[in-house]
Amino acid sequence: MSLQQRDKQHLWHPLTQHKIHPDALPIVKAEGALLYDDKGKEYIDGIASWYTAMYGHCNPFILERVSKQMQTLDQIVFAGFTHEPAIELSEKLIEILPDNQEKIFFSDNGSTANEVGIKMALQYHFNKGEKRNTIIAFEDGFHGDTFGAMSASGLSVYNGPFEDFFIDVKRIPTPNKDNFDEVLKSLRHIISTNKVAAFIYEPLVQGANAMHMFEAKYLDRILEICKENTIITIADEVMTGFGKTGKNFASEYMSTQPDIISMSKALTAGFVPMAVTSCTQEIYDAFLDDSVGKAFFHAHTYSANPIACSVAIAGIDLLSSENIQEKISMIIKSHQEFDDRIKEHPRIKTTRRKGVIYALDLDIEMDRYGKKRYEIFDHFMQNGVCLRPLGKTIYILPPYVITKQELDKVYQTIEQLLNQL
Ligand SMILES: *Cc1c(COP(=O)(O)O)cnc(C)c1O
Repeated sequence: MSLQQRDKQHLWHPLTQHKIHPDALPIVKAEGALLYDDKGKEYIDGIASWYTAMYGHCNPFILERVSKQMQTLDQIVFAGFTHEPAIELSEKLIEILPDNQEKIFFSDNGSTANEVGIKMALQYHFNKGEKRNTIIAFEDGFHGDTFGAMSASGLSVYNGPFEDFFIDVKRIPTPNKDNFDEVLKSLRHIISTNKVAAFIYEPLVQGANAMHMFEAKYLDRILEICKENTIITIADEVMTGFGKTGKNFASEYMSTQPDIISMSKALTAGFVPMAVTSCTQEIYDAFLDDSVGKAFFHAHTYSANPIACSVAIAGIDLLSSENIQEKISMIIKSHQEFDDRIKEHPRIKTTRRKGVIYALDLDIEMDRYGKKRYEIFDHFMQNGVCLRPLGKTIYILPPYVITKQELDKVYQTIEQLLNQL
């Protein structure tokens, strides 16, 4: 039996309507920016496997660190025990995170990192004797698929069966120069008519919302207003974290820093799942008390798994290296040149970029998961480029290790598509 036939016997894939979806493509090997399927065909991973494998697949530097760790300490309960990889990782994270971040809490994925952030914010107020139960979030934001994170996600097309069970979330549009006054008015109205605990947001780039971008100065003002009202600000940097916007964290573009930051995806470089929620000393202190009841009773069995921590440490070492920083600059410059060349193309409506993220909207009508979307996806795959269109948006978010030659091939394949449409 082929891998595809065996896949269909017992597997249920995410985000997939199995009645109509084409068979899943078996990938048997990955190295650097390349993926290889079971027939030996190679593909450039233009989206770094959902923005995780930023230092390249099976990165040898990380592999060496992990294999050492695997032979030394594999797993230990993180309640009541500690270990060097977690300690070293916390030190390295605090060094690269915005200055106000002081404490590191572990979980397993982006959704749980946000779940933890939301729970921290709710309990922060609770511990101070205040019941605040409303969360503010952007329309069309995405924060994950567990209940709290899903409630905060505005991309609700697929949330129908669960909406009755959501926590209380009020939404504001993402700001731009035309709607900014409206957004502030709406924000102030929500604050004055609800007991708002927290504001959760993706800073500057909304990944799942087709790489929608907005300006730092507007977000800065929103964050200021939240601070003035003791609303805990939670930056969801699950996608934007670890260099993608051209700085280690997108929050660095603002002058008002968040109280809580959630991160995952590139944190563990595509090797293993792990997530971190960081927070300020002030948040942490609100949980200190002689009574156990004020503590944060949230745990995942694999919290701070030593192997995952060793991956994350190696990842941060790479991120901070001259080599990777030069590659990031190369990608930013190449995106700019590509944009200058194609942005006036008649099939393009708009383009946008931030750091290594580049996105363009096609000037055609199509559904997010419709037939045309699959045709465009097929065009890329046949040409050996793995890009996943989000509706009419085509975006590139390449691993930092991509070569100039590989990147040029990604651009060429997009230009071919534009000329064929
Ligand atoms: C991917 C993503 C999540 C969810 O992370 P999972 O690991 O898939 O649970 C949350 N927020 C943002 C911004 C993301 O990009």
